[in-house]
Amino acid sequence: MVLWCINIFESERRRLIDVLISEGFLRSQSVIDAMMRVPREYFVPEEYRRYSYSDTPLPIGYGQTISAPHMVAIMTELLSPQPGQRVLEVGTGSGYQAAVIAEIVGVEGHVWTVERIPQLAEFALNNLRRAGYLDRVSIVVGDGSGGFEPAAPYDRIIVTAAAPEVPRPMLEQLKDGGRLVIPVGELWLQVLKVVVKEGSKIRHETSIPCVFVPLVGRYGFRR
Ligand code: SAM
Repeated sequence: MVLWCINIFESERRRLIDVLISEGFLRSQSVIDAMMRVPREYFVPEEYRRYSYSDTPLPIGYGQTISAPHMVAIMTELLSPQPGQRVLEVGTGSGYQAAVIAEIVGVEGHVWTVERIPQLAEFALNNLRRAGYLDRVSIVVGDGSGGFEPAAPYDRIIVTAAAPEVPRPMLEQLKDGGRLVIPVGELWLQVLKVVVKEGSKIRHETSIPCVFVPLVGRYGFRR
């Protein structure tokens, strides 16, 4: 019975990834391989597990969601993580996005991920342990709206909650040549921004419209 469930999930994962490739959301082999290896069903609460490979966000409790697979694909492609890199994620949620990045940076790299809701940090910790990523992911509980200074500088920063503007401390915590991907805008309607640090210059690129839960904190929305 257990083996049968595993096979069902694997074939559903393959099918979803084929759809994400055909729709143009997945392009790089490294991101395709990572999303093929990470079992999303490990990061979804029991009651929604059968929907793990529907391309939709799912509730994870405390008013928060695990992002839809196409959004994870888009953000990871824009972030463009590389093996061996140091990556900061703000908004751990279920831990799924952190696991996808951890697959790409490998054991030579590391992912620090910050979550403000302690119960979700605990949920992510259990999910990441079960999926086998705790050797390359560290979870921090607290307000990550100003990044996470103790492990800076980072090659990549990804924020999976929406900010009113790009938090200045995150720019300071990026290495030269580093990339930051972040939804920026108003509550419930934002655009995905890619910020590239080139020496003393900061280049902003705007990608697609999106809707994320708010980044709540000192450099986010006050709520
Ligand atoms: N990346 C997650 C995943 O793979 O499941 C989904 C993230 S969910 C869309 C956004 C998360 O950001 C929520 O868990 C929320 O509690 C968290 N969050 C919001 N403001 C935050 C802050 N200031 N610091 C850290 N986490 C924050």
